[in-house]
Amino acid sequence: MEEQVGFIGLGAIGWPMAAHVARACETVVWNRTSSRAQEFANQHGANAVERVEDLVAECEVVITCLPTSREVREVIEAAGDTWHEGQLVIDATSGDPAGSRDNAKWLAERGVGFVDAPVSGGTSGAEAGTLTVMLGGDPELVERARGYLPYARKIEHVGPVGAGHGLKAINNALLALNIVAAGEGLAALVKLGVSGQRAVDVINASSGRSNVTENLIPERVLTRAWPRTFSAALLDKDIGVALEVLKDTSVASEIYPAVKRHFEAARKVLDAEADHVEVIKPIEEQAGVEIE
Ligand code: NDP
Repeated sequence: MEEQVGFIGLGAIGWPMAAHVARACETVVWNRTSSRAQEFANQHGANAVERVEDLVAECEVVITCLPTSREVREVIEAAGDTWHEGQLVIDATSGDPAGSRDNAKWLAERGVGFVDAPVSGGTSGAEAGTLTVMLGGDPELVERARGYLPYARKIEHVGPVGAGHGLKAINNALLALNIVAAGEGLAALVKLGVSGQRAVDVINASSGRSNVTENLIPERVLTRAWPRTFSAALLDKDIGVALEVLKDTSVASEIYPAVKRHFEAARKVLDAEADHVEVIKPIEEQAGVEIE
C-alpha cells in the first residue's frame, strides 16, 4: 500500500482490522475516546491524531468502522472542508443502504469516492486477517479499495453503493435467527433429556447445522464462557437494517420481525454490553434449563 491510510473507529473489530493496516503501511488513527487511539499508536506504531480533520487532511484513503451509518455521517461531516478531490472512503461499518447512499452523495459533492465495505468473520477473523468483505460501489473505486483491505481473505464486489450493507444486514439477520432458533430448539432437547453437547454433535453431522451450532454454541454456550466480542445491541441494529431492506424491496416476511422482537425483549433483561449470543440466556431462563 503506497498511500498513507487513515483508520477511524478502534472498537472491538476496528482495532484488529486497523492493526493489519498498520502492519501494511503508514497509518493514521482517530478514535472518539482519544486514549484508545494513543494506546493503539503505542502498540502498533501508527500516528494517533486528536482531531478527525487532521486524519482527513493527511490521508488519501480513509477506512471507517463505526456502529452505524449515522456515526459515519457525523464523523465525515465533522471533517467538513478538509475533504479533498480524489480521496476514497472505505466504510467497513455494518451500515444501512440508504445511509450509505446519502454519505456517498455528500462525499461525491466534495470529489471524494465512497465504497461500503462491511466485514464478516468476527473479532477472531479480524485478528487472523480472514474476514470476508462485501463491497458496494462503482467498479473503479471498488478496484482501488481492494488494495487497502489487508484484514480480508475474501473480497466480493456485490453491487452499487449500499449493496454491501444490504447483504451484510441480511447475513447478520440470518445469524440472529439461527441463534434464536438453536437456543429454543436446544432448550427443548435438554428438557427431553438430550445433553446440549450430544445434540449439537448430532446436528453438526446432520442437515440443521450452521455456524451457530458448529462454532458459537460449542465455544460460548456449552462452555458457559459467554465471551463478549460482538454486542447484542449491534446485531439488533443489523436485524433492523434487514427489516428496512425487506420493506424497501416489498418482500413480506414473518420470520425477521419475530427475530427482531426476540432481540428487543432479550436486550431489556440483559445488560447493555451483552454479547449477541447471550440472547440465549432468557430462553434458558424461561425454559428453566441450561444448555450444557
Ligand atoms: P464497538 O462498539 O466495539 O466500537 C464502536 C466504535 O465506534 C468505537 O471506536 C467507538 O468509539 C466508535 N464510536 C461510537 N459512537 C461514535 C460516535 N458517535 N462518533 C465517533 N465514534 C463513535 O463496535 P465494533 O467494533 O464491534 O463494531 C463496529 C462495526 O463493525 C459495527 O457496525 C458492527 O456491527 C460491525 N461488526 C462488528 C463485528 C464484531 O464481531 N464486533 C463483526 C462484524 C461487523 P469509543 O472508543 O469512543 O467508544
